[in-house]
Amino acid sequence: MRKLPLQLARLTTEEVGSIVDKEETSVVLLPVGGVEPHGPHLPLGTDITIAMEICRKAASALRDRDVAVVIAPSLPYAVSERAEGFPGAVCLSSDTMQRLVAELCRAYLRDGWHHVSVVNHHLDPAHVAALHAGVLEVNESGGGAEGSGAVPVSFPNVLSRRWSAELCEEFRSGASHAGRYESSILLASDPDAVRREIMNGLEAVTPVSSEDGAETGKSLREMGGVDGYLGDPAAASAAEGKDTLQRLQNMVVTEVLEALGKDPAAAS
Ligand SMILES: [Zn+2]
Repeated sequence: MRKLPLQLARLTTEEVGSIVDKEETSVVLLPVGGVEPHGPHLPLGTDITIAMEICRKAASALRDRDVAVVIAPSLPYAVSERAEGFPGAVCLSSDTMQRLVAELCRAYLRDGWHHVSVVNHHLDPAHVAALHAGVLEVNESGGGAEGSGAVPVSFPNVLSRRWSAELCEEFRSGASHAGRYESSILLASDPDAVRREIMNGLEAVTPVSSEDGAETGKSLREMGGVDGYLGDPAAASAAEGKDTLQRLQNMVVTEVLEALGKDPAAAS
């Protein structure tokens, strides 16, 4: 297993067959992002780049712990109501998103994988709610492989209290859109995609009334992000991005191991 490619799409049908038949537990990571503005300095596909990078890191950490894991082709569209009106923003409805994620999870589980982890980095509250509903729907219908004992689907959510506490202050203030937090991750994972000169000249934008995280329903513009970003992109650094990615990797690894009934704290 360790020598096989991490990307599911690079495996053959025979290789997948032997993983799901022979491995005690087999796991699919499903990267989810969106197509939406990320300021004048980051590309539209920033969220999917971040989700893929988290998956790559989490998958190799899980393989080091002898978990048979692959990364599914990404789901690069999302509910993106907040960003409507900006060129390049593509928005699915919540119903479509919920159904899409539920059907994909069911398809992998039917194929014999024991567990699917939805690794999302598009943080529009309506999108997160749709994913959550889709995941719940599958888990409640007991969609997993019989006898594996695993929770069928996990949804490690950076917006949850458990994991947001691990992230930087800007993130917790609600300014997690294309500001210091996301710009740092891109500097660490895809530096050529960052328009650095533009980024360095951007003024910090404090989101309007997001103290309690109650920005649901508000558009990016209403929150003060008239240029498609919130927070302080000019303060971003690759070192901070590397550290954040480590935390995000740990979030996914922990939730997958917990779903498989393994102790995340135990040595591999
Ligand atoms: Zn983003």
